[in-house]
Amino acid sequence: MELRLYDTLTREKRTFVPLDPANVRMYVCGPTVYDFAHIGNARPVIVFDVLFRLLRHLYGEKHVTYVRNITDVDDKINDRAARDFPGLPLNEAIRKVTETTAAQFASDVAALGSLPPTFQPRATDFVLPRADGKADMVTLIKQLIARGHAYEAGGEVLFDVQSMPDYGALSGRKLDEQRPGARVAVDAHKKSPLDFVLWKQSSGDEPGWESPWGRGRPGWHIECSAMSAAYLGDVFDIHGGGIDLIFPHHENELAQSRCAHGTRAMANYWLHNEFVQIEDAKMSKSLGNFVTIRDLLADWPGEVLRLNMLKAHYRSPMDWTLKGLEESAKTLDDWYWVAADLGGEQPADTVIEALLDDLNTPQMIAGLHGLRNKAAFGNETDRSRFAASLRFLGFLSETAVQWNGRKQHASGVDAGLVDSLIAARAAARARKDFGESDRIRDELAAMGVVIKDSKDGTTWEIAR
Ligand code: AMP
Ligand code: ZN
Repeated sequence: MELRLYDTLTREKRTFVPLDPANVRMYVCGPTVYDFAHIGNARPVIVFDVLFRLLRHLYGEKHVTYVRNITDVDDKINDRAARDFPGLPLNEAIRKVTETTAAQFASDVAALGSLPPTFQPRATDFVLPRADGKADMVTLIKQLIARGHAYEAGGEVLFDVQSMPDYGALSGRKLDEQRPGARVAVDAHKKSPLDFVLWKQSSGDEPGWESPWGRGRPGWHIECSAMSAAYLGDVFDIHGGGIDLIFPHHENELAQSRCAHGTRAMANYWLHNEFVQIEDAKMSKSLGNFVTIRDLLADWPGEVLRLNMLKAHYRSPMDWTLKGLEESAKTLDDWYWVAADLGGEQPADTVIEALLDDLNTPQMIAGLHGLRNKAAFGNETDRSRFAASLRFLGFLSETAVQWNGRKQHASGVDAGLVDSLIAARAAARARKDFGESDRIRDELAAMGVVIKDSKDGTTWEIAR
């Protein structure tokens, strides 16, 4: 079976054919590091991690390059730095904000069971021409000016959208529909209201780099054009991010990269995840339902958040609810109970096949439930196939003792779980599987639960 992916640009599900199967290349826009990441930001992290794992499975671990950038130059960062560290020089304050936020992001996404991307470039390292000759923003902007796609005006360098006949194809906006008016503010120095900033001047204490256009800083979109070209070349396979990035960010990245390099494409497949909302409401600070990954990790294991996220297909809106989390936690308790501490190499076909169909994770989870039942009532091979499938997807990173110990620590002993373990042990004894019944007794002991068998059944208490 082949991999099929929905491409936002052509608006169809297409068979994935890599440019070079020996080096499959994917770029995903990463966080702007000025604040804790929220649970919406976790969605592209988890979704594209699953795609990364699938591509590694299909093409080999050494044959996939995944780049996720860190945007560490942005006016939101400057504002946050001035607010949080008013006593410090702005540049120092900015460094504090970006370094602590980037470190927090790295630890959040690791807790979510995501593999580190192959490269995680920071925008500030790609502003000026580099000693290693990798692509950089200033050189890209020079190329755009030289090719007649950008111009200087009002202290800025702007991209000239009218210089690109098919500008707007990704988001489906036509230039002639974009008349100046109510929606788009017209800046007098722009040739077209949709022209966007490649470079702008910096005042004395703002972060700035010396450039042919004076001391200044890059616009947001040019960062990704430079970092993707630096690691993946002028044209690569997959470009991803959340749906809000289609316009203007990806539309403008695409325009810059194609016009600077003179190519017909920037990426061959554009993938976008839908939004996460919370208990049926848009997540926003003013509604008070803005949930950070870090807050959720205080109450739930990262794997519970990961499973919960994968219950919805990435192209459907996801409603994040407490009920959903509780169900995901129960499912993982059960999966740990069946498969923790087991090895296994090869994920099951049913899991891979579901993912090959445009990352159909709801179908994949249905497949996992089937594998779980086979494993619980089947043989060693069934169990290791289930365990391998879970590990392939980023689950089962803890031992049974760690998993249950953490739960006990978090919420006391879960009586429902103890009862189901005792029932499972009775079933194992009934079928004379004493290895399994001993294993469950040990697992209960690790949770601090002592059991007593009598002819009336089994009772339990917390060990003192
Ligand atoms: P930002 O740091 O705001 O640029 O966002 C980082 C990533 O998270 C981007 O790919 C966004 O599209 C994505 N994102 C932001 N908010 C949400 C949300 N509520 N649901 C899903 N993805 C989101
Ligand atoms: Zn980007």
